[in-house]
This record gives sequence, C-alpha cells and structure tokens, in this order.
Amino acid sequence: MRTDGTMNVIAFGTRKITYTLHREDRKRLRIVVAPELTVDVFAPATDDEDQIQAAVMKKAAWIAGKLDALERYHPLPAPKKYISGETLVYLGRQYRLKVEQGPRQPAKLMGQFLKVWVEDKHDTRSVRNTVDSWYRKRAHETLDRYMTRCYAIASRHAVPEPVLFIRTMRRCWGSCSPKGRITLNLNLVKTPVHCIEYVIMHELCHLKYHNHSKSFYSLLTRCQPDCRKRKEILDKTVI
Ligand SMILES: [Zn+2]
Repeated sequence: MRTDGTMNVIAFGTRKITYTLHREDRKRLRIVVAPELTVDVFAPATDDEDQIQAAVMKKAAWIAGKLDALERYHPLPAPKKYISGETLVYLGRQYRLKVEQGPRQPAKLMGQFLKVWVEDKHDTRSVRNTVDSWYRKRAHETLDRYMTRCYAIASRHAVPEPVLFIRTMRRCWGSCSPKGRITLNLNLVKTPVHCIEYVIMHELCHLKYHNHSKSFYSLLTRCQPDCRKRKEILDKTVI
C-alpha cells in the first residue's frame, strides 16, 4: 500500500530539509534522494512520527551530502546581464563579453573576448539573442564532432548508432531513450572538452545497457579508461 505522502521538514544545522513521508507495508525505513532534488521517506505503517523523524535526522548528513552532489551536477547557470565585461564560459575557458554598437552581425570569438554587435548597446535582449545563437551554433558543431569521434570508439564495442538531439536541459547534461535517441544539453559546450567526451560516451554506453549496472560501467571504462577522472571534473564544473 502506498499513500501520496505528507510533507515534513527537519532542521540540519542552518539548513532545512523537506521530505515527503510515505507510509507503506514494509519493515524498514527507506530514504530516496532523487535527481530532481526531492527526498522521499518510505516508512513502516506502524512507526510513529517521532520515531521516523529521529531516523531521518540520523541520516540528515547523508541526505544533505547527496543533495549537494546532485545540485553540483545540475547545470543551473546564474542569470546573465548581457553587458560588456561579463564573463562567459566556452569549452571550460572564460571569455569576456564585449558589446559594440553597429550593424548587427553574428558574434565572434576574438582573443579573450566574445564580441557582439548590436544597433543599441543597451538593448540587452538583442545581445542575449546574438550570444544565444552563437552558443547554439558552437554547440551543434562541437557536439556533432565529438559524437562522431566517440562513436568511432563505441562502435567497436557493438554500441548501436544513435540519433543525436541537442537542446537546453535544466536538470541533466545528457539523456538516452530506449529507442536510441541521445539528447545532449546545449550548455555542455561551456564545459571542458574532456567532460563533453565523458557525457557523450556515458550516453552512448546506455544504448547497450539502459541502466547503471556493472556491465554498463565496465563498457564505459573500456571505451574511456579515464572516465572517473572526467566525471570528477564535470561534477566540479560551474557554468
Ligand atoms: Zn547514466
């Protein structure tokens, strides 16, 4: 039996952790921290509220650590102002935005600057559109290129050929459908090349194993022996 659950909050230091409590016909308490940054607690129907709260409190450090790790994995960029001097990231390197007044044309990477030309310097919406289309173009070129390179390796391990989609995703860097469709986050183009290759190879290996089983990781390691190191870098990457 499963109920829809009730919302509960515990305090862990200065932090508040919200969780949904589900009562079930089960013997032991189970806590699930999901990539959507939700916490679900499945408790035996016979336990009283205080008992459950105490059990969740005991696990608070573990829950907080999991939430932090997941949050780091989430590409949630800070809101940009689209003004000169602002920092932009491309392939893991920082560039400065330089807004110039003049006839509109595509943005250009020049030295350490990304130059944008708009008719009105204060029209941040135009600046944003120009920057966004530059990122979109760079993302398609870059992700296509690395997909080809990674697939050349994965295909030797009988990984079927994927269909690639690129779009902005809020919650993850990439995903893979059972029908062989790989979707990559457009924002991946902001991360170092090593990380781009890691996400692509990870999703490619999912075409053969649609889970995170031992077989999946052993295939991933055969295709990309330093995959762990790459993931560590990706987890620390802020875009
Ligand atoms: Zn995965």
